[in-house]
Amino acid sequence: MTAPTVRFAPSPTGHLHVGNVRTALINWLFAKSKGGLFILRIDDTDTERSTAAYEQAIRDDLTWLGLTWDKTFRQSERFQTYEAAAEALKQAGLLYPCYETAEELDRQRKLQRARGKPPVYNRAALELSADDRRRYESAGRQPHWRFKLSGDRVTWTDLVRGEQAIETASLSDPVLIRADGSYLYTLPSCVDDIAAGISHVVRGEDHVTNSGAQIEIFRALGGQAPTMAHTPLLVGADGAGLSKRLGSLGMGTLRDRGLEPLAITSHLAKLGTSDNVEIRDSLDQLAEEFDFAKIGRAPARFDETDLVNLNAALVHTLAFDAVRDRLMAIDPEAAHPAFWDLVRQNCDTVGDAARFVPVAFGDITPVIEAEDEDFIAHAAAHFPDGPVTGETWTDWTTLLKAETGRKGRGLFMPLRRALTGMDQGPDVGQMLQFMGRERALQRLRSSPT
Ligand code: GLU
Repeated sequence: MTAPTVRFAPSPTGHLHVGNVRTALINWLFAKSKGGLFILRIDDTDTERSTAAYEQAIRDDLTWLGLTWDKTFRQSERFQTYEAAAEALKQAGLLYPCYETAEELDRQRKLQRARGKPPVYNRAALELSADDRRRYESAGRQPHWRFKLSGDRVTWTDLVRGEQAIETASLSDPVLIRADGSYLYTLPSCVDDIAAGISHVVRGEDHVTNSGAQIEIFRALGGQAPTMAHTPLLVGADGAGLSKRLGSLGMGTLRDRGLEPLAITSHLAKLGTSDNVEIRDSLDQLAEEFDFAKIGRAPARFDETDLVNLNAALVHTLAFDAVRDRLMAIDPEAAHPAFWDLVRQNCDTVGDAARFVPVAFGDITPVIEAEDEDFIAHAAAHFPDGPVTGETWTDWTTLLKAETGRKGRGLFMPLRRALTGMDQGPDVGQMLQFMGRERALQRLRSSPT
């Protein structure tokens, strides 16, 4: 196989969410796994809804995820090329003007349904004479343009879904150009895929029906249809579609929640595949393991809890250098390798380290239960002299154990609560070394809560 060229083609009408990032990622991994090219195409033919801000956000989010592109272009810069393609189709009699209004088409469909027929466009416009057209146009109606499907069965071998067949006779001839002259996505996409030499179109299975028409358009334009791969859509853990929750599953939101790019890409790359959903070291490793044959036909279940757990697993392994800047932003004192080593096992996100900064370097509210008051007072009175070292905690608790008869939870929990204000967290003995003697004693001597 020669190296593939693929494209990710988002419309800049909103932010990227887990669903379209998965499509981008699969394209990217496939390209990298075969030494191919990944193109970012901005599908901004809908000039009303597309914005420069969304486009920039898409580029920023992809960059943040590491999904960098080899080439990029905007459809809005290529209208002339689409005009030329539309003209060629008109000449070939494959793109024909229609004058029905939306209401008329709606009425037609209702009638068809009432008669038990599929609501397929009746091609009445193909019967119009030149005079009929003039009459419509002088009455102020502008035509929309439909592509004339062959009525044949279109087949292809889908890299995910296997052998596919679409009966184009069961489809309405698709509208390629609206009455206001604007292009729907269908034609520009084919024109660009031919021009960019796209070898594989990889996208969600909501486009399967489009593929039937688009394969005919590719051929009508004198090109060859790319190989197709349609991936199952993502659904929530409950099996329901994600569409209503996509706002909260945008990259900006996930980033603000402290999720690491590699946790997101590892998760989305493995979801719905025969591989285990596990963290990987790099996108390159994910690419090495990529294979369309591993992608299942069932909808892929996206569970945020799994993503958060995967993120935690990744954070636990992050080296200090990878988090230094972020710790610095939390508190310069926290940007210390030993501090990160101490707290990282207790962090689901790097930002969670902030919870332990006051414990180590600032002020907290100690928790001392009334029943532990005497024990904590005793512990304060017997706190080892001199600066806190690696031995302080063991020396101190060994002594307290011998003197009070306390052990296990009864010994350690009151000390942990008094010194850190928490029931759980990093090793108290090591935390004590950051806290220092004065801070520890002050906490042990505070009043019961
Ligand atoms: N802009 C289209 C979409 O976002 C692209 C579909 C395709 O990949 O062909 O659905």
